[in-house]
Amino acid sequence: MSEFEEHIFNLILIGGFIAAVISFAILMRFTAPYGRYMRPGWGPEVPRKIGWVLMELPASLVFAIFFLAGSASYSAPAWIFLFLWQSHYIPRSLIFPFRLRPSGKTNPLVIVCMAILFNLCNGYINGRYLRVHAGSYTNEWLRDPRFITGLALFVFGFVLNQHSDAILLRLRKPGETGFKIPFGGAFRYVSCPNYLGEIVEWIGWAVLTWSIPGLLFAVWTGANLIPRARSHHRWYREKFEDYPRDRKILVPFLY
Ligand code: NDP
Repeated sequence: MSEFEEHIFNLILIGGFIAAVISFAILMRFTAPYGRYMRPGWGPEVPRKIGWVLMELPASLVFAIFFLAGSASYSAPAWIFLFLWQSHYIPRSLIFPFRLRPSGKTNPLVIVCMAILFNLCNGYINGRYLRVHAGSYTNEWLRDPRFITGLALFVFGFVLNQHSDAILLRLRKPGETGFKIPFGGAFRYVSCPNYLGEIVEWIGWAVLTWSIPGLLFAVWTGANLIPRARSHHRWYREKFEDYPRDRKILVPFLY
């Protein structure tokens, strides 16, 4: 990495941690205006499906470009990193958006642009870091407790996220547009198991790569999704009188 690139890389890392703290503080007071909180007054809007593809595809592409650039020889752990990253982002950018119902909804362009910027930076710092340090992850890393624990967390979070999203996406029959109380799976315990899964997944990533970019991604995910889970929980309770009282926000039995 050249000295100039190292400056940029560190700037993104430091700026990212500061921005995560600021975002968390703002989002705990103010709910981001997308999804069920979409409201006019946020400028131009983008069809939701297109928005999701535009937001998420850069994470997959930029990571792959920076990870595979040059002529490094990759060990098994490095290929596993690439596989895990893409197994999250390819379905998220190319399958998930086309399962959203109904199709006519929109999100503010400004939110889409912020997510694109985040995914460009996040794809770059994670892909570039793992490329530069590819040599440090020898096959020995596969037996390291950090890799094994992180991988278990990642897989658990991934399955929880996918399963919970699938329950949500099945709630609406064709032609329906409203909201229902989700039941089944981890919805028995919390209002937002899909967000819990996503947070656990990226904590797993941070542990299995044992990297600062991985840690930043986990922190960002929490800073974004903990306040949103809080908003969803409050929204469900206000909207549905019969909403299960013992259901927590995000962490079973605790929060
Ligand atoms: P939501 O749970 O708000 O919505 C997901 C989909 O399910 C939407 O189509 C939504 O409809 C529908 N839906 C949700 N609840 C209900 C309900 N009660 N009744 C009927 N339909 C419902 O999730 P997000 O859109 O915020 O996130 C989607 C995925 O993206 C999640 O897996 C999340 O973890 C991930 N994500 C990750 C982020 C990160 O920082 N890493 C940031 C944001 C999301 P509608 O569109 O009408 O609201």
